[in-house]
Amino acid sequence: MPGTSSPEETPGAPPRTPEEVERALEGVLEAVRGCPDAPSLRRLAAEWVSGRGSRQRAWFSALKSAADPAAMGRALNAFKSAVEAAVEERLRALEGAGPDRAGGAPEGGFDPTVPGRRPAAGGLHPITLVARELEAVFANLGFEIATGPEVEDPAHNFDGLNIPPDHPARDPSENFTLPGGLLLRSQTSPVQVRVLESRSPPLRILAPGRVYRPDTVDARHLYAFHQVEGLCVGEGISMADLKGTLAAFAEGFYGDGAKTRFRPSYFPFTEPSAEMDVSCPACGGSGSAGGNRCATCGGEGWMELLGCGMVHPDVLRRAGHDPERWTGFAFGMGIERAAMRRWGIEDIRSLVENDVRFLGQFR
Ligand SMILES: [Zn+2]
Repeated sequence: MPGTSSPEETPGAPPRTPEEVERALEGVLEAVRGCPDAPSLRRLAAEWVSGRGSRQRAWFSALKSAADPAAMGRALNAFKSAVEAAVEERLRALEGAGPDRAGGAPEGGFDPTVPGRRPAAGGLHPITLVARELEAVFANLGFEIATGPEVEDPAHNFDGLNIPPDHPARDPSENFTLPGGLLLRSQTSPVQVRVLESRSPPLRILAPGRVYRPDTVDARHLYAFHQVEGLCVGEGISMADLKGTLAAFAEGFYGDGAKTRFRPSYFPFTEPSAEMDVSCPACGGSGSAGGNRCATCGGEGWMELLGCGMVHPDVLRRAGHDPERWTGFAFGMGIERAAMRRWGIEDIRSLVENDVRFLGQFR
């Protein structure tokens, strides 16, 4: 056996005392631990304990001639159990090391029939997958990607978005505040403000990113999560453009035939504002699946997808644009929510627990 120090090379005389059995055991255990693959391990076990002609068996048949046959018998039994346990343990270790190791190469050589060791390939996180898909859908609609800082000032996180000083969203308990009056942005909307301040319309941007709110973590909330914000400003942009764009997005993201509906809503930075629902991709909007209530939409047939609206004239004015000339629409949605909808994930926390058994499903 190349590469191992097999006791077979120095067999010597059969042991005559329990002490000699112990010494022989040490040598065998060392050989077992150094065994490179399963076949040679099996050979070793057969030679010493498990085979018909094993040495341990031969020693047993010479038991009568020992000085203390009873003690010698106990020592030989202990020898057998110890070697068997070590072989088991080594076998498990080899199997754990991968199929190519446990399967074993022919002695002293390379076996080309053994499957190669597959490198553990990583994959993209489901949040990244959804964000990239959203980016791709909106890129097809002419939107470019914009980014902004995660540490914001109230001017961009609130004032520029027409959020008044007494608005509950500005309450320190609703935000992660930082020294110097700064805060971790509570939404991706400040990117809108920054883009409007630094560029002239017409423009179409999509701003995906991480946002922070001091929410208690539960099955539906995290204190750090992701949003994607869209903004389109130009001459003559109307609610019809908003509806057309978002309906095209719904079809691009949820597949042809996805229907949308708009419900009136309120956001300080859009007027009018709406929530958009998309027909449930699981039941096609019928609310039932196989005679039962659809589990994905709870029987509603619709799922809440995003908030949207026409950019408030004050938001344009604050950024230095004439709302009489320029109009636009904006929308925002949670990326975690989109991912959960897409794959039927029930607990948002599974997205951040770093369990590869969960994350490996989304490659
Ligand atoms: Zn459904």
